Amino acid sequence: MIVNMSDGATERQIEHIIQRIREAGFQPHVTRGTERTIVAAVGSGGRRHEIEALSVAPGVDNVVAIAQPFKLVSRQTRPQPSVVVVGGQKNGGVKIGAAEVVVIAGPCSVDSREQLLETAQGVKRAGATMLRGGAYKPRTSPYEFQGLGIEALKILREARELTGLPVVTEVMSTEDMDLICEYADMLQVGARNMQNFALLRRLATVKKPVLLKRGPSATVKEWLLAAEYLLSGGNDQVVLCERGIKTFETGMRNTFDLAAIALAKELSHLPVIADPSHGTGKQSLIGAVSRAAVAVGADGIIVEVHPCPERALSDGPQSLDLTQFEAVIRGLSAPLRPVLAPAL
Ligand code: PEP
Ligand code: MN
Repeated sequence: MIVNMSDGATERQIEHIIQRIREAGFQPHVTRGTERTIVAAVGSGGRRHEIEALSVAPGVDNVVAIAQPFKLVSRQTRPQPSVVVVGGQKNGGVKIGAAEVVVIAGPCSVDSREQLLETAQGVKRAGATMLRGGAYKPRTSPYEFQGLGIEALKILREARELTGLPVVTEVMSTEDMDLICEYADMLQVGARNMQNFALLRRLATVKKPVLLKRGPSATVKEWLLAAEYLLSGGNDQVVLCERGIKTFETGMRNTFDLAAIALAKELSHLPVIADPSHGTGKQSLIGAVSRAAVAVGADGIIVEVHPCPERALSDGPQSLDLTQFEAVIRGLSAPLRPVLAPAL
């Protein structure tokens, strides 16, 4: 349920509502907008009629049900888009969800110190504002390269010191979480772990932003409910990432679901970014899909880049070299083709 306070509601009136929500057996979540305050009552097992009755309390405009199963993630609870800040050691951090399109780039996996440092410097020169790189890799086959683990984390830290780019890396298990938190600025939940609820519950308690990829077979509703685990557990620094879903198509690694970006932005206040690398699996499609994603409202892109894709230890076929990456970045700011004939 949502209690919409009136424009001129006082702090005392808001406090009273918070108190009454607790008494009714729900958790209160307050969103202070520029004009009005919204107090959401979330949780299970509370007495709904006691919240409904608050519509006549002083300072309350109205009380409405939250239509969707995801509550704190919903735009109904927070109408203004959220901005997630990553890093912050230098220049106040990278803002995801603000006016500028954020470009996160780097290799699928940290293969070596030389590879990562060269990539970090190259992507920075081309205009990227964050660095990605896998230390613990979720690989389909146990015989494939699984990542360098802590050694990779140390290299990522060195790259951040060298370039100032904040770092995002994947966490696959609750066991590695404290260690990864020491080294990374943002923690990625991979597509395969989107519904790993133990992992999500633990991530809800850490003081780092989370990049939550959409599961390969997850609906948008399931994706937003996975984000709800993070917000309801206390971490609202969440960025969603569309990375393609499984369909009958075989010409690409996945089917990149452009409209899901627009839908997620419509339903939720959380920033959404696009991963055209996993979304297509093909170098040649990354520029086009990146532009399309930004056109439908994506707040940024995350792209795999390797100085020599043919030598990459993972995801070489979808990795751009530095020259190709520069071209993709240039293309992002190029105007779209005019489609309308000029008016007579
Ligand atoms: C990755 O980012 O390298 C990765 C494994 O992504 P996903 O979880 O989307 O497959
Ligand atoms: Mn990859």
